[in-house]
Amino acid sequence: MQAIRAPQSSTPAGHEAGEPPYIHCEDLFKIYKTDDLEVVALRGLDLRVARGEMMAIVGASGSGKSTLLNILAGLDQPSAGRVTVGDRDLLTTDEDDLVRYRRVEVGFVWQQTGRNLIPYLTAEQNVEVPMILEGRPRHEARARAVTLLEQVGLGEKRARKPNEMSGGEQQRVAIAVALANDPPLLLADEPTGELDSATADEVFGVLRALNRDLSVTIVIVTHDRQITQRVDRVVAMRDGRTSTELVRHVQFTRGAEAGVDEFAVVDRSGRLQIPRDYLDQLDIGARARIELAGDHVEVRPESAQDGRRPS
Ligand code: ADP
Ligand code: MG
Repeated sequence: MQAIRAPQSSTPAGHEAGEPPYIHCEDLFKIYKTDDLEVVALRGLDLRVARGEMMAIVGASGSGKSTLLNILAGLDQPSAGRVTVGDRDLLTTDEDDLVRYRRVEVGFVWQQTGRNLIPYLTAEQNVEVPMILEGRPRHEARARAVTLLEQVGLGEKRARKPNEMSGGEQQRVAIAVALANDPPLLLADEPTGELDSATADEVFGVLRALNRDLSVTIVIVTHDRQITQRVDRVVAMRDGRTSTELVRHVQFTRGAEAGVDEFAVVDRSGRLQIPRDYLDQLDIGARARIELAGDHVEVRPESAQDGRRPS
């Protein structure tokens, strides 16, 4: 197993000291209670996302990704901990305020193309709906819908209905709908889950361009490995917590390409997750030996001796 070193140079975009994170989750818990069963979907999750960042969350099915995104979207309330988006504390926000938050402060894209769009409306009308619900004049809504559809590369197809467009095109319309009221935050839960990889890459490309042009903060949940090339940072979740972070960095040395650094997330209590395959490989069970070795920390399996040593 590799020694775990403290990161030396790379920090995620906007994570410089002093700047408060735009999204801040601290020791976040979500417990679903059904009849006699409790499911702990988030167990002490820590996450910071900088304003203007585009990042991805990956992790096995059931690791809590959708639960986290639904909380950030104001669709579900956490059980305990701390979660703020901008100045808003989502743990204490009341229902009226959450409705407003969902309408103008956050855009959401679902995996199922059919869930994002109204089937009997054209692309343009779909994008107008959130603005009209906000009381914006019709002509203004129309003009913005046209602009947004051009930005996602669908200016020519704005009069089409969802079933006259491909899956990738429908997801691009869905992104335009999500951004209709110009929210500072866009959340997407497996937006390319039903698309082939070339089409998925087009959708990620559109998100990247919007992130750059509109400075919208973007959090994408995905299974797609190619996402690493498209975002600033990939955070992996395991068992309701963040476990590792991949941070892209650009090397300015001649001929070198942008590389990726992998970090383990260290939470407020100093906990970190050791990757499952390392645990298996070294046969580390319930306890490990941890030692400071100069500039790094070594983690070793408990040896046979450890157990027998008198205390
Ligand atoms: P992911 O999106 O990473 O696949 P989820 O956030 O959907 O994971 O689910 C995390 C855990 O919470 C799973 O064990 C799931 O079964 C459970 N869960 C999610 N939603 C509910 C719910 N509404 N009621 C009960 N359990 C739920
Ligand atoms: Mg999910």
